[in-house]
Amino acid sequence: MLLTLRDLRATRRRPGPRRVKAVLLAAALSTCLVAADAPPAPLGVGDRLFPQLGNPGYDVASYDLSFTYSGDNSEPLKAVTTIDAWTTAPLERVNLDFAHGDVESVEVDGEPAAFAGAGEDLVVTPARRLPGGRWMRITVRHTSDPTPDTGRDGGWVRTADGLAMANQADAAHLVFPCNDHPSDKAMFTIRVTAPEGYTAVANGLPAGAERVGRTTTWTYRTQHPMATELAQVSIGRSSIPRRTGPHRLPLRDVVPVKDRARLERWLKKTPDQIAWMESKVGRYPFETYGLLMAEADTGFELETQTLSLFESDLFTEPAYPEWYVDSIMVHELSHQWFGDSVSPRTWSDLWLNEGHATWYEALYAEEHADRPLQARMKAAYSVSDRWRAAGGPPAAPEPPAAGQKIGIFRANVYDGAALVLYALRQTIGRPAFERLERVWVREHRDSTASTSDFVQLASDISGRDLSSFFRAWLYGATTPPMPGHPDWTSTGPGKAAGARR
Ligand SMILES: [Zn+2]
Repeated sequence: MLLTLRDLRATRRRPGPRRVKAVLLAAALSTCLVAADAPPAPLGVGDRLFPQLGNPGYDVASYDLSFTYSGDNSEPLKAVTTIDAWTTAPLERVNLDFAHGDVESVEVDGEPAAFAGAGEDLVVTPARRLPGGRWMRITVRHTSDPTPDTGRDGGWVRTADGLAMANQADAAHLVFPCNDHPSDKAMFTIRVTAPEGYTAVANGLPAGAERVGRTTTWTYRTQHPMATELAQVSIGRSSIPRRTGPHRLPLRDVVPVKDRARLERWLKKTPDQIAWMESKVGRYPFETYGLLMAEADTGFELETQTLSLFESDLFTEPAYPEWYVDSIMVHELSHQWFGDSVSPRTWSDLWLNEGHATWYEALYAEEHADRPLQARMKAAYSVSDRWRAAGGPPAAPEPPAAGQKIGIFRANVYDGAALVLYALRQTIGRPAFERLERVWVREHRDSTASTSDFVQLASDISGRDLSSFFRAWLYGATTPPMPGHPDWTSTGPGKAAGARR
């Protein structure tokens, strides 16, 4: 994710009171096949920043999501979510994350199951206890509400001509029932039925379009596992320009039909940007790529897997310099390696996503627009102590404000984390740093990785124990001295005005 300049003020907005409406239908008595011993309770996987995201006891292998769109983006979509998962423990109940739609029915392995809402969980009680170490299939018939709840950012983004999705960090379960934590990646099949005149696009490659009467059902499939926060579904009056990237990689963008011609000058940059990233870190990790340019006022851009979401204004507003827009395109592109293919084990590992994306964003600007990385890093260093005081150190960010999905996306996980990478390069040297970057995305491809994995790999590759270096840079209350730049200083809190970019 990257906040756009003009919307940085949004991060300073005070959130309203959190009022999560109970929208789940209570289980009808007739469907309560098993009397629960205790009331259903929300569970989580223990993420420090989002304690109730994710659920224990199972590992999702695949999601099959079906959405039916009416043509009105303020009306709930009809949806069916089918989850194939492996139980890792015996389960009396299965908790899913889901909090913004009505549930009509739940089946477990084809049999009706009881269900109830608890917090932001949908708690499913199957007819029989599920043993550990076996497959289960859960089918939920529900609605998916594109209008945000009061005081809570939604996953759906309403655009001028339909819908897009922006689930990072904790909003996928406002769209579909899921195990909503990046540590449980899965394959996705996404089907969208929409009326004539609309085009639907989702992550991965197309797997058919079937027309019945005046509606079409589009199907897309991922060829790599994906975190729920990276799901994307675009429904709109869209044009799909196609082109070919390096190694014959199929590229497709999604743009408003009326803007296709004037957006082309940006879209055609993607093949060279992918080639540039490949020259830095190795082969592009997925089956396709493209930009989704949505007419929406999100205030951020988002690296949804294989199809990054951008506000179309970013490309049509003349106030943004070309180098800035280019570097944002590269920011989201580099996330396909850093954040998507290698996704964070916990949300405290977010600095690995944003630090790397900021690094390549800045490196691209240095190489293509004569904007020195070192100057940017020096500027970041000067305010780093303030960032640490305001939002926590890079690898231990403070918890987000309730209901704000951009709440943990503070300067310290962007330029503050890129600064850690700069300090690392100053310490281990350019060749070892560049090798680390390549090995990191190769070794953890299609998987999740943690801060300690990065510390370990950096130590292995440089041949020195970097644990105390990283402890100070990632977890310290103040910024350590910058290797090679003893003259750099960081102004502590309350001493100077903070810099924002
Ligand atoms: Zn980002």
